[in-house]
Amino acid sequence: MASDAEHASPAPDEETIISEFFVPLAHDWPGAYELRDDCATISPAPGHELVVKTDPIRSGIHFFLDDSPEDIAWKALAVNVSDLASKAARPVAYTLAISFPEKPSRSWLGKFAAGLSTAQQHFGCVLIGGDTDNAPGPLSVAVTVFGESPLGKMIRRATPSPGDLIFVTGSLGDAALGLSLRKQIKTGQEHSGHEAYLIDRYLRPRPRLELRAALRAYATAAMDLSDGLGKDLGRMCSARGIGAVVYETKVPLSDAFLAVAPEPLEDRRSLISSGDDYEVLCTVRPDNVDNFVALAASGGVVVTEVGMMSNEPGITLIDQAGETQDWAGRGYDHFS
Ligand code: ADP
Ligand code: MG
Repeated sequence: MASDAEHASPAPDEETIISEFFVPLAHDWPGAYELRDDCATISPAPGHELVVKTDPIRSGIHFFLDDSPEDIAWKALAVNVSDLASKAARPVAYTLAISFPEKPSRSWLGKFAAGLSTAQQHFGCVLIGGDTDNAPGPLSVAVTVFGESPLGKMIRRATPSPGDLIFVTGSLGDAALGLSLRKQIKTGQEHSGHEAYLIDRYLRPRPRLELRAALRAYATAAMDLSDGLGKDLGRMCSARGIGAVVYETKVPLSDAFLAVAPEPLEDRRSLISSGDDYEVLCTVRPDNVDNFVALAASGGVVVTEVGMMSNEPGITLIDQAGETQDWAGRGYDHFS
């Protein structure tokens, strides 16, 4: 993060950061009051309720301080919108609490605001407020996103039934592999198209907003995959005391993953349950599967059946050799 000490112009103060870089992102929301009040207002459409999510990202944990400001902005919003997408909610507004470890340069702020502008237009939401401060520690970018959903229709995560089939969108493992490449490959260093694709999957999660109609019509439970398939499935199952069986051979992998991933099966297995995928994990009753897949496809989303919910507690992976593996708890944890 370049500071203005390295540039000609002085670093902007807090008020200037807000008025110059953030107010333009709030113009389209009358209830943001041009960020000249302490609070903002939101009126959900009649018959709807607000769906709220906070997921901060911090340098050194969720991104690298030298990632491009545009990528950091995209990720800060996208990881939150991804949660809303999995709940079949429509993003409408968000707040941004940003804490800078050092005074940011105009150039960095300009790129960050441009990245946010691109992201908010893409996801259909508007900045309505936040907080800006300067504190030692990591660069912290905390978005809270507000979405709308018809009253009582938010898709819950802990509501699958035994016998429901388990689906995931897109492909798994790309972001975890992209992260390891991001660590190995220096900025500006030559890399292949597959490697570029995988790094982009890590830097720029794509929330599956196009899946909302299919989820609302047919999903019995849904969540986004941020901490790995094994662990997130455990979260889906635990409240009901049920379990899940996943077939390793069914887990969808991208061409880039297959070309670049390390050979040992164990390494690949740990990548597909590492996290950062931001794909949707959901369950569907067997009699609704054809309709679900068709409606997802009409929204341009590929969904793949990877297993089934069972009465038996525990998360089981049937590996490529047909052997049974205990998969509970495999995934990312901030405390271990
Ligand atoms: P307060 O003094 O009440 O904490 P601030 O002076 O921090 O309020 O903020 C003034 C206005 O600017 C508020 O409307 C606040 O929501 C907005 N704001 C501050 N930082 C940000 C930010 N990073 N993004 C969007 N709005 C912000
Ligand atoms: Mg105030």
